[in-house]
Amino acid sequence: MSTATAPDIAAIVRQVISELNIAGTPSGARPAQVAAPVATASYAGANGVFGSVDEAVAAATEAFEQLERLGVEGRRKAIAHVRRISIDDAEELGRMEFAETKIGRLEHKIEKLKVLGEKVPGVEFMGSEVFSGDHGLAVIEHAPFGVIGAITPVTHSLPTIACNAVNMIAGGNTVVVNPHPSGRKVAAEGVRRFNAAIHRDIGIDNLVSLVAEPSLDTAASLFNHRGVKLICVTGGPAVAKAALQSSKRAIVAGPGNPPVVVDETADLDNAARSIIQGAAYDNNLLCIGEKQVFVVAAVFDAMMAAMERAGALRLNGQQVDALTKRAIVMAGEGAHRHPVPCKDLLGQDAALLAKAAGAAARDGLELVFGETDNDNPFVPVEQMMPFLPFVRCRDAEEAIRLAHESEHGFRHTAIIHSNNVRNMTRMGRLLDTTLFVKNGPSVAGLGLGGEGYLSFSIATPTGEGVTTPLTFTRQRRCTLVDDLRILGSPAAAR
Ligand code: NAD
Repeated sequence: MSTATAPDIAAIVRQVISELNIAGTPSGARPAQVAAPVATASYAGANGVFGSVDEAVAAATEAFEQLERLGVEGRRKAIAHVRRISIDDAEELGRMEFAETKIGRLEHKIEKLKVLGEKVPGVEFMGSEVFSGDHGLAVIEHAPFGVIGAITPVTHSLPTIACNAVNMIAGGNTVVVNPHPSGRKVAAEGVRRFNAAIHRDIGIDNLVSLVAEPSLDTAASLFNHRGVKLICVTGGPAVAKAALQSSKRAIVAGPGNPPVVVDETADLDNAARSIIQGAAYDNNLLCIGEKQVFVVAAVFDAMMAAMERAGALRLNGQQVDALTKRAIVMAGEGAHRHPVPCKDLLGQDAALLAKAAGAAARDGLELVFGETDNDNPFVPVEQMMPFLPFVRCRDAEEAIRLAHESEHGFRHTAIIHSNNVRNMTRMGRLLDTTLFVKNGPSVAGLGLGGEGYLSFSIATPTGEGVTTPLTFTRQRRCTLVDDLRILGSPAAAR
């Protein structure tokens, strides 16, 4: 009988740890699925589009190892192609997205691709922090996770993927996307173009990989895949919940239902223009878009008049009732039955909503609106269509309270139009949202007409906020004791 030597035992332990992939899972927990990608073959030439999660993860793993070797300059070059294609091909890809998803507005599908190409932060966002003191130097560097699994919504199918790609590659990662099934074709086309250009330039394919036929099953496989080190989910309540319950660390950009408060000190014309700009954008598909408005009684009628002056169509009570019946339907079973927007009006033009309400629309109409009670289902439901309910409130206190209720504690986005700093402060504190916009359209919160940078993934329940390259990195600290601080120190004097 032979006895194992110390080196043998060490090798066995290394092998077992590697098979369990303990380092890649939180608390050393064993992942639910252990199907291993066999990353021997080169996946170059696939341009990121794969028939299975295993293949996509294997290709992204191979691409990650190659990207590491090219350093920050490799990342910069790769990102430049994602930006350029998003801008140069915006018209063609925007048309494809619009034709495939059949929701939103064509001009905004195109614009979203262009602005992300210009405004999403890349490698320039990657700094290091330094602590220099009597005991030398500590440097905090931001390291990649590896392969990230991303789930993306139908509301901005390719823009979310492109934006995630810029952020994640800037952080040194690669990504496998499970796109929304209803936007999968444009997602695949965009990914193909990104990878082909990157491959031609720096010789790495599949930095952004994608599952060509996505489903809930492929999403679950991605969540549980041992080759995936981090999850990033952008979507509604079901997928946000699934990600929060997953065994891996998740960045969750969840649903919103952004309320607007208008108080008696507001500039009503600016408020009306801003509300139309934000809520009509892409037919109100944005998670940050204005969804319900609470106006204090003293200026309610004047605000409704300002909305009409700014070009929105006001529905009367009967028309609001007719639209509510058509637009909000019940879904789910038993205790889970709840109101949701009906699919055939979601993301549709204001003219179609006017027609459904029995009102005549004029050319160029962007938004319809009307007075409702607080218990109208348009108030609690994230309707994602260009109709806004306006609720008359006794005073700012009531408006802020109802706004808070309507946001459901998502802590996503809220907007106020006011020149009363006390009301702004009260609302900001009570709603506690990730974005809080004052005296402008919701989109200003993403740097579009306001300060700051852009991303289409705003991590709300997990708290990372508007995502950046740093969101997708791990902190590593490098400490040198007593040396390399070149200022005088007690240690240097010794
Ligand atoms: P959705 O939740 O229907 O789908 C989003 C993605 O999740 C899709 O890829 C879908 O296939 C997948 N998915 C759904 N249920 C799943 C589950 N149980 N397990 C795994 N995957 C699942 O949302 P949508 O209609 O595509 O997008 C609109 C929603 O997304 C809105 O609620 C909006 O507020 C939200 N959203 C949030 C942000 C943000 O940054 N916070 C950005 C865009 C959209």
